[in-house]
Amino acid sequence: MKKLIEETQKEYALRREQAISQAQRRKEKVFANIDGLSEIEEKIAQLGIVSLQSLHDKEDNRIKIFEEIDALKKEKQRLLKEAGYSEEEFLPDFQCKKCNDSGVVDGESCICFKQQVAAKLYGTTSLLSVLEKENFDTFNFELYSNKAQKGKKNPRQNIKQISAECLQYTVDFGRHSGNLIFTGAPGVGKTFMINCIVAELLQKGVYVVYMTAYDLIDLLRKSKLSDYAQTIDASFVEALYNCDLLAIDDLGTENATDFAIDEFFNLINKRLLDKKQIILSTNLNLNELNEMYSDRILSRIMGYFTPYEFVGSDLRLKLN
Ligand SMILES: [Zn+2]
Repeated sequence: MKKLIEETQKEYALRREQAISQAQRRKEKVFANIDGLSEIEEKIAQLGIVSLQSLHDKEDNRIKIFEEIDALKKEKQRLLKEAGYSEEEFLPDFQCKKCNDSGVVDGESCICFKQQVAAKLYGTTSLLSVLEKENFDTFNFELYSNKAQKGKKNPRQNIKQISAECLQYTVDFGRHSGNLIFTGAPGVGKTFMINCIVAELLQKGVYVVYMTAYDLIDLLRKSKLSDYAQTIDASFVEALYNCDLLAIDDLGTENATDFAIDEFFNLINKRLLDKKQIILSTNLNLNELNEMYSDRILSRIMGYFTPYEFVGSDLRLKLN
């Protein structure tokens, strides 16, 4: 998995280079059509070198050089403005404005970089394209029946309320946001809602790891194997503990061995202690979860989750 990081670093270097050379080409094209601009640029560059060489000169000389550079820059701006351009237009158009596509901020990996690596690791390279389609703007309440079955909630009103509260969750997202658990039958929109939340938070630059319970347990299991270091980079397991939001889909489908249960709840516990947010979804109801995991473990953590019950008939049938 070290390969994954190196591969991503290469992509970033290329992306950054392309942005810079594109900007350069754009600039050259425009500058060539404005009289005098290229000469001014050249003079500024020359004076820049002179100013470096004159570091040990008298203060007066250096000030003179800087004044000259300043005057040239102003002249450059004036010419550009006259031709209808601003200097910002020739800056590279980096995808990430935080790290300028270097992948590094203050000596640490930028959030965009971590997300890129995480997306690859967790097999969610397609996640971003899914998220483009499944977000709060594309949520279709009409798919939910407006009639409540006897003794049950009205599905449409229910989903509208859940959606509003989940959207608010993303607006307020932070260390005190708390944790959510989505329950309900298959196909009633739980995964869609997680996608909405993840899409919203990714856009805000929140560090999100999103995976199915099955893949999560598998990763935890592999991380305990003796040849672990060769197969998985430690940072990926650390990400499960460190990310701002861990979204786990389909709890209850994993292979719940004692080991899996222990590892899983250690992770959940640690995150709760660290006030790091978690969203769970499950097709099981609380009784079934109790049966699968021990009552003792479950009751201890459930107090930290706000439950949302999704109701309705299977939307996937309606969509097909
Ligand atoms: Zn970045």
